[in-house]
Amino acid sequence: MSALAYVNGTITPLAEARLPLLDRGVFFGDGVYDTLFSINGRLHAPERHFRRLAHSLHETGIGAISIEEIESALAELSGRCEHRDVDFYIQVTRGVQPARAHTWKEEPRPTLIITAQERHDLPAEHYARGVTLFSHTDLRWGRCDIKSVNLLPNVMARQKAAAAGGYDALLVRDGHVTEGSGSSVLIVEEGVLVAPPLSYEILPSITREIVLELAREAGVPVRLERRTLEQYIQADEAMVLSTKVGVLPVRAIDSVELPTERPLIERLRALYQETVQALAE
Ligand code: PLP
Repeated sequence: MSALAYVNGTITPLAEARLPLLDRGVFFGDGVYDTLFSINGRLHAPERHFRRLAHSLHETGIGAISIEEIESALAELSGRCEHRDVDFYIQVTRGVQPARAHTWKEEPRPTLIITAQERHDLPAEHYARGVTLFSHTDLRWGRCDIKSVNLLPNVMARQKAAAAGGYDALLVRDGHVTEGSGSSVLIVEEGVLVAPPLSYEILPSITREIVLELAREAGVPVRLERRTLEQYIQADEAMVLSTKVGVLPVRAIDSVELPTERPLIERLRALYQETVQALAE
């Protein structure tokens, strides 16, 4: 038994976990989530992930649960894991109602779900060769800063990219690139690291936050500006960032190959990996 789930205080093997049908997460996607990982039993950047989860909870008004409660459930689940390198998925829904209804009179008790699965690195080849992205219209809602479980537009875009052999979709809204369907995507232009400014259009990615800090500390110029799809395709370097994969080079966008020399990505990836490696020591 390796993968585990915690649902409102009950820990079971992941495949046996159950949720009541009347949970608002089922009917309305009324919930938020976050993901983080541990190496050697130690969490990577937990304070950043819990700060973002608190933002998602606050902005959706899912109030009757505290971050302390979530942290202690995570610690309990982590203590039951047989693995030390673990991907955790935390979801909080608004809870279970007596019948399906959009509104509620009394706020239900939120449902807390945490899953734990052994963490595996992507094959080294992905990092050496880079991955491909396919552009897609950004069909998401107006509050992408909230890590909502409503992921239908993300799923549709990513499935299309995957069917074409890509790693992720590169989302484009009103002529500018926002992010990937499950990742941030940054580019390098003449030695400058370029990222879209934080806004309601993108998720405040924790990996991006860390990489931008590391870049600034290393004296790399950073520009927070929007860019068109054409500018992404013409970039000197492009990288996908996420908790799941860290810093992953992009080889091609819409079948156009990017340069194979990636000096800044290699530097930033090494700096980021140091923050992960520090947990193992
Ligand atoms: N953007 C979206 C839409 C995501 O779903 C994710 C990860 O789930 C990211 C960006 C990357 O965020 P993080 O670095 O916090 O994993």
